[in-house]
Amino acid sequence: MSTTLGFGIPFQPLEILQSCILPGILEKDFFLNGSWNINKLKEALLENTVLEQVLQICFYEHQPDCILWKPAKNGLFNFYSAWETIREEKQLSTLKALFWHPIIPKKMSFLSWRLHQHWLPVDSILQSRNLSLASKCVCCNHVESLQHVFFSNTVAANIWSSFAEDFGFSSDPITNIHQAFKYWSLCCPTKGHVRQLIPVLILWVLWEARNKAIHEQRVYSFISIRTRIENLLYYLGKAELLSYKQWKGDLMVAQRLHISVHRAAKKPPTLLKWLKPPSGKLKVNIDGAFKVGLAGLGGLIRNEDGHCIAAFGRSTAAASPLHAELLAAAHILDWCQASGFKNLIVETDCATMRKMVLNRQGHWSLFSLMMKVSHLLQATMSTLSLVKREQNRGADWLAKEALAQNSAFIWSPPLPNKLLRGILQLEAAGLPYIRG
Ligand SMILES: [Zn+2]
Repeated sequence: MSTTLGFGIPFQPLEILQSCILPGILEKDFFLNGSWNINKLKEALLENTVLEQVLQICFYEHQPDCILWKPAKNGLFNFYSAWETIREEKQLSTLKALFWHPIIPKKMSFLSWRLHQHWLPVDSILQSRNLSLASKCVCCNHVESLQHVFFSNTVAANIWSSFAEDFGFSSDPITNIHQAFKYWSLCCPTKGHVRQLIPVLILWVLWEARNKAIHEQRVYSFISIRTRIENLLYYLGKAELLSYKQWKGDLMVAQRLHISVHRAAKKPPTLLKWLKPPSGKLKVNIDGAFKVGLAGLGGLIRNEDGHCIAAFGRSTAAASPLHAELLAAAHILDWCQASGFKNLIVETDCATMRKMVLNRQGHWSLFSLMMKVSHLLQATMSTLSLVKREQNRGADWLAKEALAQNSAFIWSPPLPNKLLRGILQLEAAGLPYIRG
């Protein structure tokens, strides 16, 4: 037998909801012949609202009991969730966040991070580790320090100022990584903008040029470094990794550097229609609306002519939008089963809920409800399909209406609401919605 009593209602231990449980009663006393012992529950649970929620929980006799690990979504223990529970989370540094971007190779981002941590083997760092060596930088007689390699040597300083000029801003001479990223991110219109990527590229190429000069005797010059950075930008553009948005405000620079800017083609508008069920079948549209602890459940049953058989709305407590979607499915399917409707085509616009029910996998706190929906689908020999939001407008309207009115209703034709009647008439006539 399996149930989430004490955890799943609504996602907090039972003793928080019901402080005065009668003493001396064991959990097994609440079950009778594979179902809830309602009389015993009534005795123990003095509040009706809690009783109502407990009765919503299904349990399955043939499913073995299992231990739940609350921090994991699927209820099974894993080290990641354990680590997340005990670790002390530090705030992400705004500066370090600028080092990383999906289109920047990780080796380049790591270089910026290592520079920030002073973890690069330039002479001055090795000397500070008591390594006895004479130091001379690749471009002059200066001691090779991080500041000299990346910012203050004549070539590096010119690289920083030439790119700043290209992008139309002037900065004081840059002397450290904080300043570099500060100047470039200050004039950066959006996250991931090309201006945010330039400092990472410059630092990488300066380090690469320094290494090649030392180990491969290559020329260390302004021209070669500048060309290499331009080439990196060119290839990022050619690979369509730099979007129009990332160059926003700087398209002239892209043009000057011969960098192609990828502009996503605009999608043509899509026509979306609610489709009538095949002859002899019924279609059930379901939807859930959610607002801080409260759900609106909406459902609509229509026949092959698109005529409405019944329309539902109900407000109830819920913990999340996904919980609301599952409650809507359970509530409507329960009603259909009780009314003897079978072979239904059930439609939802919630992909997560559908996936959860079909795969019987999801957050442990919703397991019981998810199983109930799955069993109801089987019992009514129904299918659960995914549709777009526009194709589920009637159910969406009912869910929102129930939530706004905080009420419960079942309507049969003629429907009392003019707007809903309008939506259903247009859908039955096959009028499409336009998206895009
Ligand atoms: Zn130098």
